[in-house]
Amino acid sequence: MTLKNSSPIPLSCAEFQEQLPDLFAAGSGAIHDPQLTEHLKTCENCSALVRDLQYIADQAKQLLQPTHEPSDSVWKKIQEGLAADSSLVPEPSKN
Ligand SMILES: [Zn+2]
Repeated sequence: MTLKNSSPIPLSCAEFQEQLPDLFAAGSGAIHDPQLTEHLKTCENCSALVRDLQYIADQAKQLLQPTHEPSDSVWKKIQEGLAADSSLVPEPSKN
């Protein structure tokens, strides 16, 4: 395996796609690796795939980061649950 930086070795689709999970795991889905961008330019298959993945990642992000906090009613339920629970147990040593 050579480690020359001068001219990027063209990737195969399989090699390219192997790196995709890492790219998206890194967060943005933005591709900075010249080898990968080079492959994207020349390969419609993979550029379509990346577009799909970026779209999906985007949707997932919106699901994971909702604009308003969902926790209000959830917390209420939890607190009610806790209150119901502790009301079953007599409070210890209350003067
Ligand atoms: Zn490809």
